[in-house]
Amino acid sequence: MRRPRIKPEHLPVRHGDDRVRIGGVVRGIAADIADPDGWVWALLAALDGSRTTDQVVADLVRLHPARSEADVRAAVGDLVRAGYVEDAGEPPVAGLTAAQRERYRRSRALFRWMDRTPRRTSWDTQLLLRGARVVVIGIGGVGCTAAQTLVVSGVGHVHCVEPDVVELSNLNRQILFTEHDLGRAKVDAAVERLSAYDSGVRVTGERLVVDGPAVLRTLATGFDVVVLAADQPPEIRSWANQACLATGTAWVHGGYHGPQVSCGVYRPGTGPCYDCARVAERERRAGLPPLTLSAAAARIDPPHAANAVSAGVAGQLAAHLTLSLITGVPAVRTNCQFGFNLVTLQDSFALGPESPRRDCPACG
Ligand SMILES: [Zn+2]
Repeated sequence: MRRPRIKPEHLPVRHGDDRVRIGGVVRGIAADIADPDGWVWALLAALDGSRTTDQVVADLVRLHPARSEADVRAAVGDLVRAGYVEDAGEPPVAGLTAAQRERYRRSRALFRWMDRTPRRTSWDTQLLLRGARVVVIGIGGVGCTAAQTLVVSGVGHVHCVEPDVVELSNLNRQILFTEHDLGRAKVDAAVERLSAYDSGVRVTGERLVVDGPAVLRTLATGFDVVVLAADQPPEIRSWANQACLATGTAWVHGGYHGPQVSCGVYRPGTGPCYDCARVAERERRAGLPPLTLSAAAARIDPPHAANAVSAGVAGQLAAHLTLSLITGVPAVRTNCQFGFNLVTLQDSFALGPESPRRDCPACG
């Protein structure tokens, strides 16, 4: 690192006389550092990007003679490894035009804020997105939002898969479509709209029915991440799981059960798979008293309950997990499902076994 500098999003604050907080106030990023004699505070002030590491060390030892050169050098190393430091003398970024740097300036700031991994340049995450290929399966409420977010985030290639045409009842949540698109193939309208956001992103699509794992396996082969935004037929997530286990492709799913929004994120071979969680859930339910449906519940098939918020939050979460799989930012837990309750706005949860199940039909 040529000229170490505390990231602008992680600037420290002092609490009382003996404690420094670095990384802001967001849980998962911020950290407290004990600093009874003030030398950490002085070190953080010196890491302003105006001098080399050697100059920072020399300045600190002069200001705080009780600290050795080795102490200061080790502290700088700890801060760099913890992801709080960037290089003010980073090399000019190659692979992004001036217009792209202007477009993604604010994304870079947020990635830099959430990122706890040392990087060669502050543009590394955007370059990873630029080189990524993602297929979105199902361009309904969840898929429209997910695809839109992936395109405007600068994912290099977004491919849309969907067999249906646009209907009036889609327009309360499927935000890529307008009244002008009624009767059009969704995939055509989606590709046209998505292409208008960023001419530098390759957007493609195909009108295709997913009728088994073989179709998904073919799709998964050509892409870095599969986003499963379809929920029909009911076996489709297990099909995606089987396909991605076979190809080694990372995948996410997004959906909802009324106001309960959920998504899952899987990196095959690194932990339990989607079907491991289903086996664990069946086991959990087998230990509970049996459930009996009321006669009315057994008879009535309620209409699909969703709006732009429930589908949109699910789509945004699926896109967020996809960006995380591509860039490592933020470094979320994988091989599990997350949920969020839109009624209480509080009950977020993570579900799934800690390790793969030997009795899993897909990976066991
Ligand atoms: Zn499994």
